[in-house]
Amino acid sequence: MNFQSILSEIDSEVARIPDEGKVASYIPELAKVDAGKFGMHLWHVDGDHCGIGDDREAFSVQSIAKVFSLTLAYELEGESIWKRVGVEPSGTRFNSLMQLEFEQGIPRNPLINSGALVIADILYGRLNDPRRELLDFIRLVSGLPDVGYNETVALSEKQSGFRNAALVNLMRSFGNIRNDIEGILDFYFHLCSIEMTCAELSKAFLLYANHGKIPGREEEIISKSKAKRINAIMQTCGFYDEAGEFAFKVGLPGKSGVGGGIAAVHPGKYAVAVWSPGLNKKGNSFKGMKALELLTTKTELSIF
Ligand code: GLU
Repeated sequence: MNFQSILSEIDSEVARIPDEGKVASYIPELAKVDAGKFGMHLWHVDGDHCGIGDDREAFSVQSIAKVFSLTLAYELEGESIWKRVGVEPSGTRFNSLMQLEFEQGIPRNPLINSGALVIADILYGRLNDPRRELLDFIRLVSGLPDVGYNETVALSEKQSGFRNAALVNLMRSFGNIRNDIEGILDFYFHLCSIEMTCAELSKAFLLYANHGKIPGREEEIISKSKAKRINAIMQTCGFYDEAGEFAFKVGLPGKSGVGGGIAAVHPGKYAVAVWSPGLNKKGNSFKGMKALELLTTKTELSIF
């Protein structure tokens, strides 16, 4: 299959669609991004890769990084993490507090803010230097020694992170947060501030396309079973309250972020990342979703 020509077709088709999305503004630093950016990059598990547009420009990956923190926590802690966070779609906004009150401080899944804060608490309690060790893990998985945090974005999140502070305090009241709240929030804001390009992000997501192994390397980073389960969580919970729509239109496990990025995988075949900062009403990249819908339509390949 000639992915480069398929991506080029997608590029010109998406360019003709008026962008109905709006750049996230609740984190002031994200509002400064040029809404006209569009990039897409695909890495095949065989090692071929190709891209279009602004696919080599770094952007704020935001919640996409929750997949990496989940992976590390799952690897370190094993199945016991599911006592503290569920695996069900939330059907609510990414930063909603309502469900948490009804459900006794146990988040629906690890890919919404509350769940990622519990994962941050687990890592914070287990690692000596959580910020550095998480970066080391992402650098290992992506093979990219320069991936890093954007301190300006992390600070901007901290200064506007009232709902995240509310979520972590509410969960603390139910006993589902065990470490220092300020430290957990700082770690979480740094996690969200990670910057990567579409080319880098799709390369890092090959782990999930390749059953827990980095292509070309023998050792497992995570077991096949864990990779399968993380993909299942991405499929059912990776798009806030639009996970059903994404499964319906695209049909790949994936994760979006409010920076306008989406990373998705076709297990056994490829990993792909797309970036377009304008978000639809549910907080997912408007053009990013269109581009991935075109990808699975044109290739006639999805997991279904
Ligand atoms: N840093 C963002 C927040 O905590 C992440 C949201 C997202 O990308 O879903 O609000």
